[in-house]
Amino acid sequence: MFKKILIANRGEIALRILRACREMGIQVVAVHSSADATAKHVLLADEAVCIGPALAKDSYLNMPAIISAASITGAEAIHPGIGFLSQNAKFAQMVEEHGFVFIGPSAEHLSLMGDKVKAKEAAQKFGLPIVPGSDGAVHDDAQAIKIAEKIGYPVLVKAAAGGGGKGMKVAHSSKDMIMALSLARAEAKASFGNDTVYLEKYLSHPRHIEIQVLADNHGNVVHLGERDCSLQRRHQKLLEEGPSPCLNTDERNKLGELVCKAMRKMGYRSVGTVEFLYQDGQFYFIEMNTRLQVEHPVTEMITGIDLVREQILAAAGEKLSFNQQDIRFHGHAIECRINAEDPENFQPSPGLVKDFHAPGGLGVRVDSAIYAGYTVPPHYDSLVAKVIVHGRNRQEAIMRLRRALEELHIGGIKTTAALHRRLVAAADIVNGTYDIRWLENFVAETSA
Ligand code: ADP
Repeated sequence: MFKKILIANRGEIALRILRACREMGIQVVAVHSSADATAKHVLLADEAVCIGPALAKDSYLNMPAIISAASITGAEAIHPGIGFLSQNAKFAQMVEEHGFVFIGPSAEHLSLMGDKVKAKEAAQKFGLPIVPGSDGAVHDDAQAIKIAEKIGYPVLVKAAAGGGGKGMKVAHSSKDMIMALSLARAEAKASFGNDTVYLEKYLSHPRHIEIQVLADNHGNVVHLGERDCSLQRRHQKLLEEGPSPCLNTDERNKLGELVCKAMRKMGYRSVGTVEFLYQDGQFYFIEMNTRLQVEHPVTEMITGIDLVREQILAAAGEKLSFNQQDIRFHGHAIECRINAEDPENFQPSPGLVKDFHAPGGLGVRVDSAIYAGYTVPPHYDSLVAKVIVHGRNRQEAIMRLRRALEELHIGGIKTTAALHRRLVAAADIVNGTYDIRWLENFVAETSA
């Protein structure tokens, strides 16, 4: 097992990884930007190295600086966390070339799944159902319109290099297509430096269902059930739960098995999430995330399995210590993402956290790196806390979540906690009858 791991990330996820390392008796090296010198993961790490100025491109995305920090401190492996370099094949390769272990999948799989056109082709080849759409990328407008007519409107133009919902535009007619193509290309170019786009049938009322997988380097793959992440705003998840209120055991098992089979064919290792849209009883693959996800605690709460620990064990070459039959699902879990944003208009609200009171008690987990006196810097993601609850059933989880959100107090900055309090009181949330459009409508109606 590794003696020392460098965590190439910040915020709550750096802390989450640090906690797993501590429990495994592994020393932790934190890296940070100059804006994060007093961040909690830095204060709690065994060693810390400043890798550059505030801007992520100069620090958390600065590959040579991170590799140097690993060399200087004698770390054996690098955990990339979530976002930043976590899905960067070049980084994974560089890490391995310098003799460190990249805690994640192979560079080859990062690059395969990082290109959504190739990912879709691969998914189909490995036996997963996909959304009808263009056969690969579309380069020419006239050709795109022809394909769109064949698929049938509405059609979604998506960026091959996509992520975070960027570079995605809906077209309702051929007239819309020209505009949607040019907007999607421009956004994709600006966000990813790659303007390749492809087309997909736009599903009107799907749910977002994702399967968590875990694989070792010896061909063993298990799935840990699904998470329902349909509550999204601008394709960003706000609240996730597991199990999904709309799936039965049979559907869960079938999809889980299909995904495991695909992962075995692919030769995947590490943790990963295979995302689907689910509508009218059909599943459609949309993408695979080749890393840990923000919402991984939902799965941890219902399975009792520490995903970061398993990910580290797999990277160290250990065999999975359990098989599919050993995995038991208990009760229900819900996660709320609390962002430093104005809950009315979603404008970022960085600044000094004057006070912070985290809820507690049975079945409540808070993953957060903030503390009273901490200043949320304006340079990064606005996520400041994840409130996760577990109950014996969905109803208990909802009551517990309401109680936990009432207890939560973050003073000094605006957060989306107020929105979550309204959400958990809404009848459709209580009943579990929502799809991926629901939240945008709810926000529009209740803030008007
Ligand atoms: P990203 O990598 O940018 O997050 P995804 O392909 O995972 O992009 O899609 C993000 C979200 O966009 C989905 O959860 C869903 O809400 C919406 N979406 C994606 N594809 C479709 C589609 N074909 N029809 C309707 N909505 C879609």
